[in-house]
Amino acid sequence: MIRKEFKLGDIVQMKKPHACSTNEMEIIRVGMDIRIKCRGCGHSILMARHEFEKKMKKIILDNPPEIT
Ligand SMILES: [Zn+2]
Repeated sequence: MIRKEFKLGDIVQMKKPHACSTNEMEIIRVGMDIRIKCRGCGHSILMARHEFEKKMKKIILDNPPEIT
């Protein structure tokens, strides 16, 4: 299994969509726990890193650059 690196601002796709049917989440806090924010409804969820790694599918956008 590949160890994944997560950064603030990364957009990830989860295996299971959120209640609002969006499965894109933005990482807004990284540490022992990961806090992600739903891109659909803005709801934020805190979960343990290993739990997050299990629930996420892939990184969609690797720390997106600012768009001008
Ligand atoms: Zn949501």
